[in-house]
Amino acid sequence: MTQQYKNMDFLNKLSGILTKKISPARTISQISKLFKTYLKIEKAEFILFDNNNVIIKDFITDWDYLNDETQTAGINSTYSNLTLSQGVKFYFNETEFDNDFEEKELYRIEELTSETNNIIFPLALNGEVIGFLKAETNNINFDKSFFLILNVAAKLISGAFINYILNEQMEVSLNFYKAMKDIAKIIESQYELSYIIPIIGEMIDRFMSSHLIYIFIKKDDKYELVWPNLCKDTRVYKLLEKISAKTEYLISENGRTGVFPLSGEEGILGAIAASSNVDKLNQKDIDYLIQLTRQSGLTIHRANVYAEVLKYATLDALTGLNNRRQFEMRLKQEVSNSKRHDIPLCCIMLDVDYFKKVNDTYGHAAGDCVLKEVSEIIKNEIREYDIACRYGGEEFFIILPRTKLREASTVGQRLRKVMEESKMDIRPAKVKGTPYINITISIGVCAYDKTMSAEEFILKADKALYEAKETGRNRVIVV
Ligand code: GH3
Ligand code: MG
Ligand code: MG
Repeated sequence: MTQQYKNMDFLNKLSGILTKKISPARTISQISKLFKTYLKIEKAEFILFDNNNVIIKDFITDWDYLNDETQTAGINSTYSNLTLSQGVKFYFNETEFDNDFEEKELYRIEELTSETNNIIFPLALNGEVIGFLKAETNNINFDKSFFLILNVAAKLISGAFINYILNEQMEVSLNFYKAMKDIAKIIESQYELSYIIPIIGEMIDRFMSSHLIYIFIKKDDKYELVWPNLCKDTRVYKLLEKISAKTEYLISENGRTGVFPLSGEEGILGAIAASSNVDKLNQKDIDYLIQLTRQSGLTIHRANVYAEVLKYATLDALTGLNNRRQFEMRLKQEVSNSKRHDIPLCCIMLDVDYFKKVNDTYGHAAGDCVLKEVSEIIKNEIREYDIACRYGGEEFFIILPRTKLREASTVGQRLRKVMEESKMDIRPAKVKGTPYINITISIGVCAYDKTMSAEEFILKADKALYEAKETGRNRVIVV
């Protein structure tokens, strides 16, 4: 094979690899093999400088960041030298050469040649340096065409890498807008902070994959961790102490931890913290966190306002059943009625089985649809003077005035059966390929006796329900 033909063959194979849709790591490994076979380059490393994230990436380890500080410093200076020359320079055993050096200068390279030679070639596109190629070779017979071919290869590779980077950035910003939209959407039917905050936490956590996320709510001037369950990171607590009314955000000295106050109209509501043992928060992360925190603050503020208004409401916003406050009032009335007139009174407590799984599998919107469907079934299955309430999350109470335990038990059995047989319509949640799902419920049924307070009555139902769960779910326990 003539050298010229060999070079053409190399370029042909290289462009074949670069136009294939494979991961950066596989691309690199295939290119490295090609370099070995055709150019006798034993080891090829690709270092990329991702401008947007101000971070250096090693493509071989599939986008792992380079952490070693000294190595990074060396790479940084090489990178900036190449940038200054707009990619027209390369280094041969640490000596600079122009990319289009003259044939007659080859003697300089010959003089520098040793057993192993290090060549650093810029990866540049239209004069913009995006990183470099570090090549190690035992070759000692260099000719002009070797450097020419390296130059062309570096340009082709740069083009492909820029595409990878752009794609990655596009994905990040798409995820960001999705997270923002999801946080804004939560409030549509939900107002309990204990329910909202984990969702916000999970959304931000998913987006900020390299940092742990914590949410704190301010109570009596103290920041209480509300998501997740544990935060042992002392840097987070130190920063929280420093928050003042004017704080936009605070970053720790090592740059890896940040706190972002959650503000509402009435001042600081809490804070979101992001922390990592490895990665610094770069400007882009900080910008994203500022916006995500602002959106979360707005959502939490609206939830607070909404909850205040709902204190005076009697119905639950999602299901249209009586809310918990109303339930407690009505139960007291019925208990005193039963006591005074010696008439029977029963109640049914029910809870959707494995409801968390519904949320986890199909999303919270689908979970909300199921709660609505369950409520509709309850409404249809009870008599006009029975009182159905949403007690919390996926727990419901039905007060059955003038009802004996045997009748209440029949209602319970019927509810269990109808729920099991019903297809729950989750079409409004727009889950691809899943218009309906099945669920089951567990039920506790109990009768009131005169010696009990309303609270004890609730506790009795709760115990029965607990037993139904413990003994396998999708069943009715009558006590
Ligand atoms: P079990 O069979 O033991 O009852 O299991 P479970 O998964 O139903 O029970 P768990 O109490 O662990 O989970 C209840 C879930 O209900 C957790 C919470 O996120 C979810 N949830 C509470 N309120 C709402 C709501 O208004 N909408 C939706 N979609 N989910 C809710
Ligand atoms: Mg449940
Ligand atoms: Mg429950």
